[in-house]
Amino acid sequence: MKLQQILNEIYQELNPDFGQGKVANYIPALANINPNKFGMAVHSISGEKAFVGDVNENFSIQSISKVFTLALAMMECHEKVWERVGREPSGNRFNSLVQLENENGIPRNPLINAGAHVVTDLLSSKYENPKYEILQFIRKLAEKEEIFFDNDVAKSERETGNRNLAMGYFMKSFGNIHNQVRVVLDTYFHQCAIAMSCTDLAKAFLFLANDGIIPYSGEQIIEKLDSDRINALMLTCGMYDSVGDFAYRVGLPSKSGVGGGIVSIVPGELAICVWSPGLSENGNSYVGTKALELFVRKTGKGIF
Ligand code: GLU
Repeated sequence: MKLQQILNEIYQELNPDFGQGKVANYIPALANINPNKFGMAVHSISGEKAFVGDVNENFSIQSISKVFTLALAMMECHEKVWERVGREPSGNRFNSLVQLENENGIPRNPLINAGAHVVTDLLSSKYENPKYEILQFIRKLAEKEEIFFDNDVAKSERETGNRNLAMGYFMKSFGNIHNQVRVVLDTYFHQCAIAMSCTDLAKAFLFLANDGIIPYSGEQIIEKLDSDRINALMLTCGMYDSVGDFAYRVGLPSKSGVGGGIVSIVPGELAICVWSPGLSENGNSYVGTKALELFVRKTGKGIF
């Protein structure tokens, strides 16, 4: 069956579920998103594309940005990344501080908030203007110049981001944030506040389905080994503390964000982005998870 036909079926089957879940409201600028939105886009490395729903509407990529910054940090800092952050699932909420006390300010992995702060700190030491470099990297992957920060979302997060700031200062007390906490966190809030659509994200993530090579331009953006490793981290750490349940139901390396987006990789074949703003208890898009589960069942494209 064609990918487009499968997406059409998923759209029909999930229609009664649209609007389910709870929109993230701890970031005030995200609270007013229409929960009934739904989009799903698939890009294959051979050029096949399929879309359904609100696929061209921008949303806040939030934690999906953590994969982009990790890729950049692995390119720039190589093994040094792993002196400052671990590679184990946390089993705790994405914004939890509890393990940091016992583990000397070394976050469990780069895809939870604390780990992403450390990655952004590494980039802040490398670049004069890390915000710009992160944005340019994403524009290159998506082959699109018109990708921007949503400054209202960034401001809203900065004004309410006390937990993130606490985490940053706590890690700084262990020596694991090297730059000024407020400056690092400002970059972090901005990377989370990048606005992209399902089609942009599916395209931008194709390099992780293609051994680190952007299929459109042929450019090797990261080494194959690093691409494999990022996929491994997405599979084991990318879906908050329900990563086990997600692997059971979907079985694809994935990363979610509290904006309601989820990006999944079918290695060697596809990148998928689904967006539905209502979240389940664990912070993952409720309908988005169901859509990916259906996709894998209908196509047999899980990695197991
Ligand atoms: N900017 C969000 C925060 O730091 C990201 C959370 C997420 O998407 O998981 O709380």
